[in-house]
Amino acid sequence: MFIDTHAHIHQHPTDEFAEIIGRAEDANVGAIFTAGTTVEDSKLAIDLAEKHARVFAGVGVHPTDLERSLTSDDLDQLSNLASSPQVVVMSEIGIDHQDKSPNKEWQAESFHAQINIARKHSLPIVFHIREQADDYDAHSARDAALSILKETNAGELGGTAHYFQGRWNFAKELLDLGFNISFAKTLTRIQDLEESAKNTPDDRILVETDSYPQTFKKNRAKWTEPRDIPIVAEKLAALRGVSTAAIEELTTQNTFTMLGTRSTLVTSVLESNTNR
Ligand SMILES: [Zn+2]
Repeated sequence: MFIDTHAHIHQHPTDEFAEIIGRAEDANVGAIFTAGTTVEDSKLAIDLAEKHARVFAGVGVHPTDLERSLTSDDLDQLSNLASSPQVVVMSEIGIDHQDKSPNKEWQAESFHAQINIARKHSLPIVFHIREQADDYDAHSARDAALSILKETNAGELGGTAHYFQGRWNFAKELLDLGFNISFAKTLTRIQDLEESAKNTPDDRILVETDSYPQTFKKNRAKWTEPRDIPIVAEKLAALRGVSTAAIEELTTQNTFTMLGTRSTLVTSVLESNTNR
């Protein structure tokens, strides 16, 4: 089965959870990592993971959700949440340099501090790096993120550049630091990503949907959900000249490798056919 390594399904209305997880299961997506974007939202991610066997949580504060640099109280709360048994990754954290994004210093400090929390709990980090106005050749967020990732030796923790949208030379730098590269449905429409999708080594590639309630799309059936993982896998398979089943096998294995000892939490649920 596939694993959706990055989504925000806990942000949907409560009465949709069982259906979304059921549709994922029908599409051969056996586990979903749902990532918090604020302290409060991280609690909701854990709540959902406690209720559904196929869901695991990430905790973290997203760079675009910062209203200040994280305080010591915020960090204490996050560290406390990170110790929950359902938490498998520190996510979503990162750097975002779009025009309207929060202050860059708050972002750098908060990314750094959250990597330290991940280290304390031996959690891999799943991070977001976004440039201004989808400029794939821009380097501002990339440079800020790389300097923090290097300074903190975050590669030792392992993790993933999620929703990767950079050029191959950037992917290569992240791979050299020890991170995986995760692709989403954007791969089916942005040709500039294809080089990275072809060149990322077999043992470093992951899949995700980054799905959340897309209220801007009027047709509910068209919202991205974890069930869409096979669309990403099919595109990767076509680009890499292998079968979709091969992509399924290697991305799931790579997720286990990223999780280390925590992978046992996920292996048991992939083998089971029942939802809690
Ligand atoms: Zn996300």
